[in-house]
Amino acid sequence: MRPMTILESVLPSFLAALAGDYRVVAPQRVGGADVVYADWTDDVPVDLDFVNTVVPPKMLFFPARETLFHIEDPRHATLSAGQEAGATKPLAIFGLRSCDATGLAFLEKFFAGRGFEDDTILARIRSALTMTLACREPGADCFCVCCEAGPWLTAGFDIQFSDLGDRLLADVRTEKGEAAIAAASSLFTLATPEDLDAWSRQLTKVDATFERRSFMAAGTRRISLGRIPQEKWEHWAEDCRGCGGCCFVCPTCSCFTVTDRPSGDDAFDRERQWDACLYEGFTREASGHNPRAAKAERLKRRFFHKMSYQYIDVMGRHGCVGCGRCVATCMGGLDISTLLTRIHDECP
Ligand code: SF4
Ligand code: SF4
Repeated sequence: MRPMTILESVLPSFLAALAGDYRVVAPQRVGGADVVYADWTDDVPVDLDFVNTVVPPKMLFFPARETLFHIEDPRHATLSAGQEAGATKPLAIFGLRSCDATGLAFLEKFFAGRGFEDDTILARIRSALTMTLACREPGADCFCVCCEAGPWLTAGFDIQFSDLGDRLLADVRTEKGEAAIAAASSLFTLATPEDLDAWSRQLTKVDATFERRSFMAAGTRRISLGRIPQEKWEHWAEDCRGCGGCCFVCPTCSCFTVTDRPSGDDAFDRERQWDACLYEGFTREASGHNPRAAKAERLKRRFFHKMSYQYIDVMGRHGCVGCGRCVATCMGGLDISTLLTRIHDECP
C-alpha cells in the first residue's frame, strides 16, 4: 500500500473507528504525570512527543501479575480458567516506539520458542494491531540506533506513523494495517511527493541527533569470549542494590515466577509474576543451593544473556533494544549502556 497521510486533528476519529474491533491503547499523560500506555478515550489527548514510557508496553501482553487459573479444590484438582476467560477484543496499540516494537517481537520469539508455546501471550501479541510512531528526537538515554531497533523501523509493524507536523505519514505493511486504514479511509489521503521528501529528511536528521552511543560490538565480543576478569564483575556488582528495576523496565526481559495465592477455603489462584535475575532468590533451587548466590554472578549472567553471541544465536539478536530505560532506572550505574562503556574502556 502506498504511504498515506492523516491530519493530527482527526487522529481521534481514526482511533474511534478502530474501537469497534479493538481495545485501543495509546500514550497519554494521565493526571499530568508520566506518559503511560492507557486505554484510549477522547477525554485525554494522545501524546505524540513523549520519549519513552517508564514501564514498557510489554505489560499489556505480559502483565506484571496475572492469574493463570484457579484451583477450586486441590484434593480433586478442580481447575477453572484465570482472567483470560474474560478477555475480549484484541489490542490496537497506537504510538508504540520502534524500540518497544522490536522488544515485543523479541518477547514473541521467546514465548514461542524451544519446545513450548505460551498460547495466552502469543495470542495477545499476534492478534494485536501494532501502530508504531517513529521518533523525531531521541531522548538523552536512548541508543536504539546502536541496536537495530530504531529510531524508525523497516519491518515489524502493521502501520508506522511519522509525525510531519500537522499530519502523520502512515507507512502500511500488512493486511491488518490496510484493513485498519480502510475502516476510516475518508480520513486518509495519498502522501504527496512533498510529504515523502519531508519524511525522508526527518529520518536522516534524527539518525544524526543521538547523544548516546553504546559499545555493543565490543561488549558482545568480550562478554562472549569471557574476556572480562572476575574481579571486574565483583567490583561493579558492589553497586547493585538488587532492586530488579533494570529487569522490570526492560521491554525484552521475560523472566517470571509462579506462586499459589490462597483465595478462599481450599481455593488458590495460581499467579504468574515478573521476576528479576538480579534477585538473590531467582535461581535458588528447592534444595537450598543457589548457583548464583553472589551478586557478581547475577550481574555477569544478565549481561551474558543480553549481549553474548551464544544468546544472539538463540534469539536472533541482542537482548537489548536500546530503549534507555535501565539507564534512567539503575541507581548503581549498571545499565547496559554505562557498563558497556566500562567494559570497552577497562577490559581491552
Ligand atoms: S543493576 Fe541496577 S537496576 Fe538492576 S537490580 Fe541492580 S541496582 Fe537495581
Ligand atoms: S537492557 Fe536497558 S536499554 Fe536495553 S532494552 Fe532493556 S531496559 Fe532498554
